[in-house]
Order: sequence, then structure tokens, then C-alpha cells
Amino acid sequence: MHTRVLLLASVAITAIQGFAFKETYPVAGSVPAPKPEWLALIKNVNITNAPVYKVAANAGPQAPKDGSDPYCDWTFTGCVRETDLYQCPKGQWAPTYDDGPTDFSPKLYDYLDQHKLKITLFMVGGQVVKFPELTQRAYTTGHELAMHTWSHSYMTSLTNEQIVAELKWNELAIKEVTGVSPRFFRPPYGDIDDRVRDVAKALGFVPVIWNHDTDDWRASEDKTFLPSWIDGNVTQWAGEAATATTGGISLSHDLYNITVDAALRYLPSLEVS
Ligand SMILES: [Zn+2]
Repeated sequence: MHTRVLLLASVAITAIQGFAFKETYPVAGSVPAPKPEWLALIKNVNITNAPVYKVAANAGPQAPKDGSDPYCDWTFTGCVRETDLYQCPKGQWAPTYDDGPTDFSPKLYDYLDQHKLKITLFMVGGQVVKFPELTQRAYTTGHELAMHTWSHSYMTSLTNEQIVAELKWNELAIKEVTGVSPRFFRPPYGDIDDRVRDVAKALGFVPVIWNHDTDDWRASEDKTFLPSWIDGNVTQWAGEAATATTGGISLSHDLYNITVDAALRYLPSLEVS
């Protein structure tokens, strides 16, 4: 019996290895140009005329100094619109993982399979093209595949046409692998305003932000970072869950070994019994 199961598993893996994309994709990590036909999707659409922000290498768009936020920029003030998803109903928790798939994703996927947990994965387009087998695996094992743009740029720093390209190339890569289009996207760094919302809506995509941050992204950016910070955050949320008025959407990343190892430690405490 064991032999038979193993044989079936090896056939399944062989079938998706060496996935051949038909499409020629833009360079991973670079802001792509849209296919001309995609621009028709925003042609007769009312799009908020918010500024296209200039950004420095390590800093996102800067909030107006007077504290105003006329375009509902989440990173400036935490502003959200009715169309944004950023929390769950009380008693529910949605763990989300961004920036994958990566070499560290299989460890996370294995854990989720073993514990019969389903999560949402916000995948970067270039990573999908690099790891089609992992993308396929995540889809066939029941996770929600969502988009995290093509190049992981600050979306409010892009033109309307570039926003179209970022989302549609990301969609196309996932659709080539899985046969289905994702519905949700997460703006990198949570960088979204009404202009980005309007373009995304015209394409049929729903933005997802978060209301709990594991801070695991600090692993690469903060020299004083300790993995135990992540555990501390999640332990605190679990303690607050009984009295919280809403459930959570938590931000985390299957980008580093440290962040995946942390997930394996803290995910049990987010399970609602
Ligand atoms: Zn990200």
C-alpha cells in the first residue's frame, strides 16, 4: 500500500515539473509595460487624479506635511475604503503570506498540509514564473492564490498604465499555471490610495491589506531583529482574541527561513477551537 501511494505521488510531481510557460514575461523585479489591449480596461473609467509619488530607494511615498490625506492613502493614515479587505469577522483569523513562492515555501506548505490549514498567498509575478511547481502545489492543495504585483514596487509611485501592467502580468502568470485568475491583490508595503483602488477595480481585483503585522519583514531590515519578536506579537493577539471586536488578517512572509520557521511555531496559537 505504501509503495502505491509513493508511486502516485511521484507521478503527480513529474506531471508538473518542467512547466513550460507559453507567454514571454517581463524581467522579474522590473516595472513592466502593459500589453496594449489591457489599457482598454481603464479607458472609459473614472480614475481618481491622485499624484504619482516619487520614491527614494529605501523609502515609500511621503505623507503631506499638513497631515491631510485627500486620497485615502493607507500608509499615510491607515485610511480604508469599503472595498478594502483588512479584517475578519470576530472568531476568524486569516493568516496571509507574501512575496513567495521561494525556496522556503515548501517547508510552510508541508506544515499546512500536515495540519490541514488553508491560507492566502500573495504571490509576486516573477516568483511565480521562477517557481511554477510551487505555485501549482499551493493551488491544488487548496490555498487561496492572490497577487502581490509583478515587481513589488510602491503602487502609488506608478502611473495608471504601470499599475495595469503590474496586476495583469501577475494575473497572467498565475493563470497560466493554475488555469484560474486570482481575485485579490495586496499592494506591496500596503501602499494604496484611491487612484490605485480605481485602477484595480476596473480590472476586477479586490485589495487586501491587514490589521495585524507579525513584523517578520524586519528580519531583513533591522539589525537588532530577534525572531522571538514575531512569537511575541502573535502571543499577544491570541491573548486579545477573546475580547477583540473583530478577527484578524495577519501579515507575514514566506520569504526567509527565519520567517517560515516562526510560522511553524506560532500558527497553532492562531487556530480557533
Ligand atoms: Zn511584499
